[in-house]
Amino acid sequence: MEGKQVLVAVGAHTADMEFSAGATLLKHRKAGWDVHIVHLTLGEKGHKTLSPLEYGLQKKREAEEAAAILGAVPHFLPFKDGELTVRDEIARHLARLFRDLRPTVIITHWKDSIHTDHTACYHITRRARFFATNPHFELDQTLPIGYTRLFYAENWEDHQNFLPYVYVDITDVFDDWKKAFSCFAIGRGEGTFPYWDWYQSQTRIRGIEVGVSYAQAFAVDQEGMRLKKELL
Ligand SMILES: [Zn+2]
Repeated sequence: MEGKQVLVAVGAHTADMEFSAGATLLKHRKAGWDVHIVHLTLGEKGHKTLSPLEYGLQKKREAEEAAAILGAVPHFLPFKDGELTVRDEIARHLARLFRDLRPTVIITHWKDSIHTDHTACYHITRRARFFATNPHFELDQTLPIGYTRLFYAENWEDHQNFLPYVYVDITDVFDDWKKAFSCFAIGRGEGTFPYWDWYQSQTRIRGIEVGVSYAQAFAVDQEGMRLKKELL
């Protein structure tokens, strides 16, 4: 019998994975998967007037509320907003978590981003996956994980060279996703960027592209785009 299916989404900041992949996470939860959201940072430096301490507490609370709606378990790693770099301290921390959670699917940021934290998250996640899979990396006596499928979520800040490849029909979970989205002040329009307008529009566009109402699109590595066929 096949083991438990586990989806782990890794975001640089709270709200990143909820906005770009939240509906997809909820869909997997409803299909019986275990779903986790790993936040490398709280995104605590994203408010013009609140201090990082104040805003960090707010964003943690918002992420917990959103995760409850999405049926996901949130994990908050102790790294700082705006200071993510590709370093093994973070990759090993995440790799230990991967060995604990044992994902079958991982979602993270696409690499070409206007935010250096997002680009770092892409590389950190790939390096952590490598550490977690290879048995020769001893990470507190944890057991290596098997092969994981890796997808990159569509984020307005990570759009350069983003090539959508896998589309998930989110029509039936759209309303609950919007509720989770609205747990964040920035998701309710209380910020400078119109997040909901962008994500709602983008999921509608992706839906039109595949003939459904709303869809979330994901990129894959180039080697994941090989289809073997006997005849065209
Ligand atoms: Zn972010």
